[in-house]
Amino acid sequence: MSSNRDLREQMNSDSVAEAFGFLLSGKKGYKTVIERKVEPLRCGGCKIVLQDNVKFCSECGTKVVLPLKK
Ligand SMILES: [Zn+2]
Repeated sequence: MSSNRDLREQMNSDSVAEAFGFLLSGKKGYKTVIERKVEPLRCGGCKIVLQDNVKFCSECGTKVVLPLKK
């Protein structure tokens, strides 16, 4: 199927999101929640997933560089 991109563009409209939610859930007034994927913070050295608010990797000791906030 190649309609994924079209669907995503349509989801920008609230009414379409609602209609799509109805299709998915069978409930009226259900709005599809578009999930935002949050990339976990990873060590620049060993690539393990780091906890928030750590300054150094617990695995390899590499200093954690926080990604710039947009
Ligand atoms: Zn590491």
